[in-house]
Amino acid sequence: MTMLPPPSPRKLGLVIDLDTCVGCHACAVACKEWNDGGQFGPLPDENPYGADPIGVWFNRVHTYEVTRFEIRDSGPAERQAPGAALPNGRAAATAQDVPAQQPRGFFPRISNLESPTPALTVHFPRSCLHCETPDCVTVCPTGASYKRAEDGIVLVDEDKCIGCKLCSWACPYGAREYSTVKGTMQKCTLCVDRIYNETFDEYDRQPACVMACPTRARHFGDLGDPDSAVSKLVTERGGYDLMPEMGYKPVNKYLPPRPRRDGCGADAAKAAATDATVDFAAASPLLRWMDKLLSR
Ligand code: SF4
Ligand code: SF4
Ligand code: SF4
Repeated sequence: MTMLPPPSPRKLGLVIDLDTCVGCHACAVACKEWNDGGQFGPLPDENPYGADPIGVWFNRVHTYEVTRFEIRDSGPAERQAPGAALPNGRAAATAQDVPAQQPRGFFPRISNLESPTPALTVHFPRSCLHCETPDCVTVCPTGASYKRAEDGIVLVDEDKCIGCKLCSWACPYGAREYSTVKGTMQKCTLCVDRIYNETFDEYDRQPACVMACPTRARHFGDLGDPDSAVSKLVTERGGYDLMPEMGYKPVNKYLPPRPRRDGCGADAAKAAATDATVDFAAASPLLRWMDKLLSR
């Protein structure tokens, strides 16, 4: 067992805008170049990764087409009913645990095939969310998986990692990847070797994925500071946690797609704007939809 540090007032993380992400994978490639490629910059045209391309991806981008259908899968809903006991010993989030700005149904409340609406394409970048209370740390038998007290970044000390993979089983977001080359677990480091690197210009002290994003869909900053640009963005756009019912308290936030001009999602967005109470079991179809996908 590895202990978590006391909660840190500084919570470095990412805010990812699902409205402007175009699914180009530039963030994933830049991440791999910086963290697993041995160099950062243009790759040679010929054999850029040698004869046997290997290594892990710390950041992956999934693309889904969302059409109108109803989420009827009662399994996850029952397991995640507010206050219900979870397999990890935590209590599922209650309505009070879910932030008031939690978006409700920016996605069409899926189906009823009698009244189909235009499909919505959603690009969903996925990497470590640097959770505040993650079991990926506490399950680690060697202390290799740890959370930094000073800024909340979750890291793996590869010198201590024995490759048991317990942490990857404990991560509900699929954010950890085992390197068969190194025999150790790897994951997003929030480019800790860039963001504090005083040999870089200040502008370059950001994660590689943020630097590479052509649509500025990725934002980096201190989510523990309510006056930071990222915190204000989350407040303004109704940013939300991924799968809050798991109780891991992810630091990274996602910004929901805006309602489309063709009306796709507009009804739900209106409901979000007018409904002050949050019934978690009935709310957040996006989260339940994501949960269903991640549970596969
Ligand atoms: Fe751990 Fe997964 Fe949370 Fe990252 S996203 S801190 S790997 S539980
Ligand atoms: Fe810890 Fe490594 Fe095992 Fe993960 S794979 S639990 S980091 S020893
Ligand atoms: Fe989306 Fe930006 Fe990543 Fe491209 S680089 S997939 S736009 S987050």
